[in-house]
Amino acid sequence: MDAHLPTDDARRDPRLTVVVAAFDEADALPLLQPRIAAVLDALAHDAGIVGRVLYIDDGSRDATWQVLQRLAAQDPRIALLRLSRNFGKEAALTAGLDHIESGAAMILDADGQDPPELIPQFVAKWREGFDDVHGTRMAREGESLAKRATAHMFYRVIGRLSRTPIPADTGDFRLLSPRALSALRQLRERNRFMKGLFGWVGFRQASIPYQRQARAAGGSKFNFWKLWNLAIEGITGFSTAPLRVATYVGLATALLAFLYGAWIVVKAMLWGDPVAGWPTMMAVILFLGGMQLIALGTLGEYLGRLYEEAKQRPLYLVDAWRPAAGVSSAQP
Ligand code: UDP
Ligand code: MG
Repeated sequence: MDAHLPTDDARRDPRLTVVVAAFDEADALPLLQPRIAAVLDALAHDAGIVGRVLYIDDGSRDATWQVLQRLAAQDPRIALLRLSRNFGKEAALTAGLDHIESGAAMILDADGQDPPELIPQFVAKWREGFDDVHGTRMAREGESLAKRATAHMFYRVIGRLSRTPIPADTGDFRLLSPRALSALRQLRERNRFMKGLFGWVGFRQASIPYQRQARAAGGSKFNFWKLWNLAIEGITGFSTAPLRVATYVGLATALLAFLYGAWIVVKAMLWGDPVAGWPTMMAVILFLGGMQLIALGTLGEYLGRLYEEAKQRPLYLVDAWRPAAGVSSAQP
């Protein structure tokens, strides 16, 4: 095991930080925080857990930051982080995880779709010795059939394509043990498909089935186009299968072309060669042109990501950091 990772002893660490990324969630946060606070109170009492909450304002345009500051003034366990602009959920979560000083991390959505009341179950699994406890959605309320169907398909496709195990129907609702957390923090790639990164880390995994509830307030921040891009990000980040497909399609085409060429020669020798075949020629040219562009586009997807990676820009920029009261303000 990597020498930088804390050993199993770290699992006895009683600290747990609930990490919530919020983008335009001013309506949902006042509903969520009391639920988290109640759970943390119970955990402190029953299991001796030292709970904290870390909210990341991912460049919200509404009153999210003001709401968060109000909440933080009422509860000394709350830490706040604001990014310089909207970097997206994956970067916001990364920022949050980077700012946890010690202990385990519990990731939740701000909209209440991942019920905080389940946190004690996650903690129990962590105490049993699991490093990555993730919630698996048994049902999704308040989401369209199209969204459920495409999500279902996506998890199946990526499960087939990627060599990294990515559990199906599992989002970011999960608890990471201290060593899983510090392992994850070593992955600094720009292509941040968190579900895949969690899977890459490995260690002992446990899954907790749950009913995904409807949003408490506001609307989903992900439209079809954003999800489509996230899916491409996931596939290109965790599989080179599309490149291999291009190779095989090329091989198959070359083989067919060879057979077809041989047939043309034979035909010309047997029956002569009157000029004909414009339709075949057009069909072949267009087909090959299309295939080449698809292969080039696939190559471009990977090359573009390589370019992003090569620039080595930071994953996010911090605008404001307000540690929980009574906690040292040292940044990790
Ligand atoms: N989110 C974020 N940055 C973004 C988009 C979303 O931090 O650019 C947060 C959002 O506030 C919420 C979580 O990510 O806490 C999940 O977003 P949402 O509920 O819109 O996604 P869905 O549940 O519809 O997949
Ligand atoms: Mg949601």
